[in-house]
Amino acid sequence: MQSIFDYDKQSLIDYFLSIGEKKFKAEQVYSWIYEKRVFNFDDMTNLSLDLRDKLKSTFDISLLEIVRKQESDDTNKYLFKLSDGNFIEAVLMKHDYGNSVCVSSQVGCNMGCAFCESGRLKKVRDLLPGEIVRQILMIEDDYKNRISSVVVMGIGEPFDNYDNVMRFIRIINDPKGIAIGARHITVSTSGLVPKIYEYADEGIQTNLAVSLHAPNNELRSKIMNVNKAYNIDLLIKAVKDYIDKTNRRVTIEYLLLKDVNDTSECAQELADLLKGLNVYVNLIPYNETSHIEFKKSTKENIMNFYDILKKNKINVTIRREFGGDIDAACGQLRASEVERWNHFILQTQER
Ligand code: SF4
Repeated sequence: MQSIFDYDKQSLIDYFLSIGEKKFKAEQVYSWIYEKRVFNFDDMTNLSLDLRDKLKSTFDISLLEIVRKQESDDTNKYLFKLSDGNFIEAVLMKHDYGNSVCVSSQVGCNMGCAFCESGRLKKVRDLLPGEIVRQILMIEDDYKNRISSVVVMGIGEPFDNYDNVMRFIRIINDPKGIAIGARHITVSTSGLVPKIYEYADEGIQTNLAVSLHAPNNELRSKIMNVNKAYNIDLLIKAVKDYIDKTNRRVTIEYLLLKDVNDTSECAQELADLLKGLNVYVNLIPYNETSHIEFKKSTKENIMNFYDILKKNKINVTIRREFGGDIDAACGQLRASEVERWNHFILQTQER
């Protein structure tokens, strides 16, 4: 049975029309779910009993199960169980100006970035649109607060699950859906160049973030496999095309790894690479994990890197560190916790 959360408004309308129901009935169902947050067809009292029965036998309307929640002052990390027994994570970040959620787009990830805890488990499958949507619904329900912005930056490469992520965006951006403004939605890619071109042609006002993490091909290929398929020249060309077409500024994510990519030479090379582009650089202090050999840059190196970019007139910020104490920071999702659960499930299935 397909989840009702996989449907954006238009596809739900199309389905209703195909079974001889009126368009406004589909809109009523959409409103029950996203405006009234009613997750039971029996409670949709302005629908006929007949239609409610039809919906019950056609759609799954179940939510995700919160298996575990870890809380700190500025962050909540959620572990969700999917209906097939796989586990995914999402993170709520509490800001003074609102709440943002970092969602996962795949179970596991095939991109194999060397520094990434999240990518240690190979991709099991893509998430369906409704599985991404429900991460937000579950967090809003648990936190009893609205989410004002969303980043698709959790487990998975969103552009490796392009169509489902785009449908997810349509659902959360719909004023009659979760109603998150396009400018408050950011998709982050490790650099799947053909999809950057496709994204530029979508005609939507959402944001693009690109994980660059190195200023030259030699270094980038060492830490990001994707660079072997789409090198920095191709990536920067695609970013330029995106900026030209959308007139939107692109965020360049740069994870600072001690003695790997945090030297003065790297900073200058990065400044030269990005000069004249409408981008801003987000420097991310690395969060050390127990499994991966990289180390966090020193404060001096971080500030030196920042100063060199500034001196070269590159817009740059240093990302505030969220949730390092609960392994919720960038590249730390799908850490040992999820691995343990999936291992447990695998063993249970093998028995
Ligand atoms: S950083 Fe992102 S793209 Fe790279 S392995 Fe991790 S989850 Fe995948």
